Amino acid sequence: MEIIDCHLHFSSIQLFQNTAKKISKVNYSRLGLQKEFNQSNVIKGIGMGISETAPGKFPDADSVNPMTLDLEKSPSNLYTCLGINPVKIEFDQDEKELEDIDRAIQNNQVVGLKLYPGYYPYALTDAGYQQIFQLAEKYNLPVIIHCGDTFCNKGHLSYSHPLEVNKVAMQHRNVIFVMAHFGNPWVVDAAMVISNNPNVYADLSGFTIGSNKEISQSRSSQLLKNHIKTGMAYVGDYSKFLYGSDWPLVQMKPYISFIKELIPTKYHQQVFHENATKVFQKLI
Ligand SMILES: [Zn+2]
Repeated sequence: MEIIDCHLHFSSIQLFQNTAKKISKVNYSRLGLQKEFNQSNVIKGIGMGISETAPGKFPDADSVNPMTLDLEKSPSNLYTCLGINPVKIEFDQDEKELEDIDRAIQNNQVVGLKLYPGYYPYALTDAGYQQIFQLAEKYNLPVIIHCGDTFCNKGHLSYSHPLEVNKVAMQHRNVIFVMAHFGNPWVVDAAMVISNNPNVYADLSGFTIGSNKEISQSRSSQLLKNHIKTGMAYVGDYSKFLYGSDWPLVQMKPYISFIKELIPTKYHQQVFHENATKVFQKLI
């Protein structure tokens, strides 16, 4: 099976560098990415744009829009969702930020936009984000929204709750929204929003972090697996789920095995490949 990884990172963020080195034991580089792609038959990946102006500063109010993949030169099978810094959009009097994002969208490798509520303390209903949703509609780009747990202890958690997505999904019916991490741990809340909105999907990245060892522990946890499967059962529609890893926070091979165990075999092709080509139309 040829896999499309809909959620990974390829940016020079200290948090990712440290996690790759100390926890997941990932070679966080262009070479390391290509090696893991080849090992697991991942034919395409989608990187979530993110940046910081000094080590450890993310979520960084000073990051330039759009945030991109700045680790190394991207391989040709790595695509980008442009990351949005809402602080700069709020003070964008002459719409320079929006023009820069619009210009970056013209690149063929750009396949979506990425928002970080919970990290940045801005609600999805904030005026600045409405301009981003208009851009998404204009160019037919999905908007990936960080949902659920924040990978730090300074999360503004009410902003990353899945119910927040319900509000904007109803206001912008022509825009596809993807809840990252299936909103974990709020998977049942996420399931409600997904089943009630035809334009809302979820990616299955980031349920666990680490190397083969930590992922093996997650694979043997019936409690964790049932927790995720309960949310999926409520949605009852595998066309709504996209495979993603959150690399470099996990090693790809064991994480793929973990996700395969959560999904009936007959839906693997859909979740690991087909759904991605429908949601990310520029991938084709
Ligand atoms: Zn991520």
